[in-house]
Amino acid sequence: MNDCIFCQIVKGEIPASKIYEDEKILVFLDVNPSTNGHMLVIPKEHYQDLFNLDEEIITHSVKVIKEKLYPLIKSKLNCDGLTICQNNGYGQEVKHFHIHLIPRYNDDGFVNSYNKDILLPNDQVYSTLIEK
Ligand code: AMP
Repeated sequence: MNDCIFCQIVKGEIPASKIYEDEKILVFLDVNPSTNGHMLVIPKEHYQDLFNLDEEIITHSVKVIKEKLYPLIKSKLNCDGLTICQNNGYGQEVKHFHIHLIPRYNDDGFVNSYNKDILLPNDQVYSTLIEK
C-alpha cells in the first residue's frame, strides 16, 4: 500500500534501523521504544491486522524470534525476559500487522496500565462470553 509507512520501510523509501530480514518478514527498531531494543516484526506483504493475516507469517515469525531475535537480544543487551504484544484495531496506530518485541530488564519500569474502575466482575464477563 502506497500510503502505509511500514510498506514504505519494506520498499526502502523511508529509513529504519533494520535488525533482520528474509523473504517473508522484516524486523526493525521501534522509533519510540518502550525499553532498550524494542523492535517490530512485520510481514513484507501488507496485511492490516491478525484477522486477515496469512497464518504462516505467525509460525515463521515465532521461529525467527526463538532462533534468532531472542538469542541476539539476550546476548547483546543482556535482557531478563521478553514481552510480546500485538494490537488489532483499537490501540493500533499503524495499520500494517506488526508484533512488538519488548526486551525486559529487572526494574525497567515498563507498565501495562489499565483502568480497574471500568472492569466488570469476571463471572458477568464469563456468562456473556459463553451464553447460548
Ligand atoms: P501500534 O500502536 O501497535 O500500531 O504500534 C506502532 C508502533 O510503530 C509504535 O510503537 C511506533 O513507535 C512505531 N513506529 C511508527 N512509525 C515508525 C517508523 N517509521 N519506524 C519505526 N517504528 C515506527
